[in-house]
Amino acid sequence: MTETPTAAATDRALLEVRDLRRSFQVRRAGGLFGRPATLHAVDGVSFDLRPGRTLGLVGESGCGKTTTARLVLGVLSPTGGRVEFEGQPVPAPGTAAWRALRRRMQMVFQDPLGALDRRISVGHQVMEPLAIHGIAAGAARRSRALELLDAVGLGASFFQRYPHELSGGQRQRIVLARALILEPSLLVCDEPISALDVSIQAQVINLLLDLQARFDLAYLFISHDLKVVRQISHEVAVMYLGRIVEQGDPDRLLVDPAHPYTQALVSAIPVAAAARRRPRLILKGDPPNPVDRPGGCAFHPRCPAATARCAIDTPRLKPLPDGRLVACHVAHGEAEGPRLAA
Ligand code: SF4
Repeated sequence: MTETPTAAATDRALLEVRDLRRSFQVRRAGGLFGRPATLHAVDGVSFDLRPGRTLGLVGESGCGKTTTARLVLGVLSPTGGRVEFEGQPVPAPGTAAWRALRRRMQMVFQDPLGALDRRISVGHQVMEPLAIHGIAAGAARRSRALELLDAVGLGASFFQRYPHELSGGQRQRIVLARALILEPSLLVCDEPISALDVSIQAQVINLLLDLQARFDLAYLFISHDLKVVRQISHEVAVMYLGRIVEQGDPDRLLVDPAHPYTQALVSAIPVAAAARRRPRLILKGDPPNPVDRPGGCAFHPRCPAATARCAIDTPRLKPLPDGRLVACHVAHGEAEGPRLAA
């Protein structure tokens, strides 16, 4: 694998996502006899990701993070918008062009044991992608696998071992070695550490940071854990019901969140009472069913700052003076009408 010790990020986007949309036809409660409805899982998402950088995607489960990841990888086709990788549109899933492109975009899942085959030795699983893509052979494959095991902090002694003999952290290192053997430039990491013990989580985050610097990798890092996302991301996008509601520098976003939903997520991070900068903000209710997304700002039924305008006028994602993007009338000083009771 070609190392890039300086890991300098270039200005050109590796990944360009514009107005990405994906809806599904579903039935409301009642199963086969329920009324048909449209679920907008991803609704107008745009972002850029440059080489060697990390974009953290956060939000409650069901907000569209994983669907966005699947659209980026081309596993799902969008119903609108576009995804470009290295300046080219992502080809239709299943085509030869898509399979070739997938070498450059790899996925790391939450459950490393589920991603590995318990009956096959670690070494053979790490080499497997080379066999699938017809790259190298025999001793050359083995040598590449050993190189990758070393890169993820596991020695040659792991080559003959089996997944069930390893800890959760070691398994996730194997998954990373297998993903990296094809020399990707993008890793899509979907909750890659949430199944691990807290002590192991820090080790895997440090490993991801080392690998990024060494191989100039870009990460699309999906998590519900804002603290973890802050550690690893150069930029963070907060999603709510299929849309990005706030996007920008992780430190600014976590220290001084502008969108009331981000404020609630930050407020839920456990900290000592003395260190808390704002009173704890507890949201009322669960996120609405995406099939019945509220009109206006979709967050307004739960938002403590909502005004009459919020119930009828959807806020656009646009920049604040400090450069971050926020979709909120109040954050932009454009609230109108009486305050609604959340
Ligand atoms: Fe709350 Fe209104 Fe801002 Fe939406 S637009 S987040 S409802 S204040």
